[in-house]
Amino acid sequence: MNEPTATHGGRVNVLTTPEVIDTIAGLRARLAETGERAGERPRVVLVPTMGALHAGHLALVRRARELGDIVVVSIFVNPLQFGAGEDLASYPRTLGADVAALGAVGVDLVFAPTGQVMYPHGPSSTRVTAGPVGTLYEGAARPGHFDGMLTVVCKLMNIVGPDVVVFGEKDAQQVFLVEAMLEDLDFRPVIEVVPIVREQGGLALSSRNRNLAEEQRAAARALSAGLAAAASVAGRGTAAALQAAHALIDAQPLVKLDYLVVVDPQTFLPVAADHHGPARMLVAALVGSTRLIDNAALDLN
Ligand code: AMP
Repeated sequence: MNEPTATHGGRVNVLTTPEVIDTIAGLRARLAETGERAGERPRVVLVPTMGALHAGHLALVRRARELGDIVVVSIFVNPLQFGAGEDLASYPRTLGADVAALGAVGVDLVFAPTGQVMYPHGPSSTRVTAGPVGTLYEGAARPGHFDGMLTVVCKLMNIVGPDVVVFGEKDAQQVFLVEAMLEDLDFRPVIEVVPIVREQGGLALSSRNRNLAEEQRAAARALSAGLAAAASVAGRGTAAALQAAHALIDAQPLVKLDYLVVVDPQTFLPVAADHHGPARMLVAALVGSTRLIDNAALDLN
């Protein structure tokens, strides 16, 4: 795309301001142009985000940079995945700062459409349905959330035509459902999953953390501390892991637990009490009015 100005990790990087495009036709035209110029089809990597970027998002972008020739970051606060009474209107929108941060890690294109561009006729009546797992955990608390998320991921993949799409392990249920969609509907792109980035003290980075007062932020650390405690006793089984996590989380009056569950990574259904092998503990809680989620791998022997 632009003239390379630096190399990074052996790969040519473009450490300049990324080009921001807000129409579907504009993005497709730009991608087609770069393909023509390169002679052969460049490898395109898509990183879908809702903006208000932090170091967790940037870890995804850095991984994307390693995986392809053209990195497209989408920034779109998707109304379809917000329920009535959720924080759609107040979700942080920081496009200028986001573009600057993406420039520093070498992104080529930022796709930042309006709702009107993505849903010109209003919320689309065609939806991708997440199925039974989409109604559990986050899906139980946020009915329709995963259908809305999968629908926009599907649209973004049709718009960008990536070879790889990058997601964060922070949203483990989202990863499970996107993987299922890619397989069930025979999508060509492969998914790349990047580990959770945490701040010092363990709290998983989230765009919503900026809503936390200092006292709430301190209390919210009980979530990651609970997961770590669970992982450290997982060898004694599911009940011990749950008990260890509850002991830390329930001790924080500012943390209102929604769910704490251990799931089988193959099915994303709760494990049986005597489950052995790899598992994942999921947690969600309200701290004040801010909904936080986190998860960790457990090895249940
Ligand atoms: P969002 O903007 O919240 O929709 O997130 C966009 C992508 O960034 C999703 O794939 C998230 O899982 C990922 N992400 C968000 N926070 C983190 C984090 N702390 N560590 C790793 N990935 C993250």
